[in-house]
Amino acid sequence: MPQSSDSLKQLTEELSKLPGIGHKSAQRLALHLLKVPKDEVLELARALVSVKEKMRYCTSCWTFTEADPCAICSSPKRNPHIICVVEEPSDVIALERTNEFAGLYHVLGGSLSPLDGIGPEDLKVKELLERINPGMEEIILALNPNVEGEATTIYLTRLLRPLGAKITRL
Ligand code: ZN
Repeated sequence: MPQSSDSLKQLTEELSKLPGIGHKSAQRLALHLLKVPKDEVLELARALVSVKEKMRYCTSCWTFTEADPCAICSSPKRNPHIICVVEEPSDVIALERTNEFAGLYHVLGGSLSPLDGIGPEDLKVKELLERINPGMEEIILALNPNVEGEATTIYLTRLLRPLGAKITRL
């Protein structure tokens, strides 16, 4: 029989795996969950399971979505001839919040990082190339302004330029 403190310890350990949550914060969250009504905790648990069961990748732009293709890819209001290339689904959410971009997205799933062993084959580069057709007006490279993002931008520019579409940077 596990001791009663084992479940608290396990929850703390699981929470500390989350990004930005250190051991101390994890413990604080775990103790908070012990104090709130059981219904609230069940709601949280259900939401955690539900997001994993329902959310998948859009097989066109590779962001997270419940329906494939996603709402952006299937919207008639979006301009399919402009693609904004980003690193993560969180970038799509951030750009959508500005309400200023009316094209489509392409989520690479990261950036090139030879030191971490992440090459083009680990990103959705092949899938991006497959989306580029002669009607494409513009490809916007909106990668993070760090070394990896810069290397990815240079790599993609070389790859995309011969395909004829206008390439811009955000
Ligand atoms: Zn999509």
